[in-house]
Amino acid sequence: MKTTVPKAAILLSPPHMSGAEQHYIAEAFASNWIAPLGPHVDAFERELAEAVGAGHAAAVSSGTAAIHLALRLLGVGPGDRVFCSSLTFVASANPILYQGAEPVFIDAEPETWGMSPQALERALDEAAKEGRLPKAVIVVHLFGQCARMDEISALCGAYGVPIVEDAAEALGSSYKGRHAGTIGRFGIYSFNGNKIITTSGGGMLVSDDGDAIREARVLASQARDPAVHYEHSRPGYNYRLSNVLAGIGRAQLKVLADRVEARRAIFERYRTALEARPGIRFMPELPGTRSNRWLTALTVDEHLAGVTASQLVAWLAEDRIESRPVWKPLHLQPLFAGARFYSHGIREDVSARLFRTGICLPSGSAMTPEEQERVIERLKAGMKSGKAAAGT
Ligand SMILES: *Cc1c(COP(=O)(O)O)cnc(C)c1O
Repeated sequence: MKTTVPKAAILLSPPHMSGAEQHYIAEAFASNWIAPLGPHVDAFERELAEAVGAGHAAAVSSGTAAIHLALRLLGVGPGDRVFCSSLTFVASANPILYQGAEPVFIDAEPETWGMSPQALERALDEAAKEGRLPKAVIVVHLFGQCARMDEISALCGAYGVPIVEDAAEALGSSYKGRHAGTIGRFGIYSFNGNKIITTSGGGMLVSDDGDAIREARVLASQARDPAVHYEHSRPGYNYRLSNVLAGIGRAQLKVLADRVEARRAIFERYRTALEARPGIRFMPELPGTRSNRWLTALTVDEHLAGVTASQLVAWLAEDRIESRPVWKPLHLQPLFAGARFYSHGIREDVSARLFRTGICLPSGSAMTPEEQERVIERLKAGMKSGKAAAGT
């Protein structure tokens, strides 16, 4: 009889510390600068702005907070509309609800899995005819792949609608030589534990508009008016990042380029090993863009592969390998039932198809080649034997 040693779990995208974080944390502790704000926060803002080529940056407690501040700065309020990519994490759109505005969802397109310019054009045309243009368009760069920013910027420019780039998953990605997050009026990044670099939790709002970023810092600090006593004339938030966490961020930012290389190498290994399999298609990379390949994503055509994406997710989980479906589109979420949605083609819902057929594989930058080999062999076994399809 064979005894089986339990295998170690392989996670989707765990944190990957460099070791240098401890130095910055120790510095914060030595100076007793533990409270929010402080020298690490100022330095992290400067260093991140420089790394991505943005004019200014405000460090905040999460990517979601950064999106919320961007909407507030753009004057989004009750009764306003905000357009948003549908194929994304709910955090992209929750701040629309915080502001009492109405989300309108825009489908994905096949080459980037990002916002479909043709769907956006129909949505803008209709909104203009109704005299209800959106106050902002939130464009998501999915899994690190930049959306079609030339087309999207041209459309939004023609209607005078500002863009907020949700680059939470795309720090380190570029679009025609520019960093993801620096093309629209505002860009946001996330340093949540699963992102390409992490502070355990945190975010950044960037813009070339220095006044707007200064205003963001005020709003994020309870909107205190300049006075010795605590004077307040409008609602604010407690959204600033702690000095300790900013220290972690500074160390992580130094290894961002390595993390991008590691994730791209992981993507290439998966692709080389699996792309010849029937029914398997890897997420494309738009010419002129460079994805950080935050998560390796692919689609499974069940008729050709003999197995569905969700069967593969379960098959991997049985072997303690964490994978997951592509984000469930927001226009299909109960939270947004009744919200308007503009599909890519008149009868072609690309984001729903990607949700049905897509799978994200373990992509952590600390994953070893041996671990990745285990994932690849497990996937091959699941596809070939049809065992995954049989659920055994
Ligand atoms: C992670 C993520 C966010 C939210 O970032 P938090 O820091 O977790 O608030 C927003 N949008 C997308 C696309 C994300 O993946």
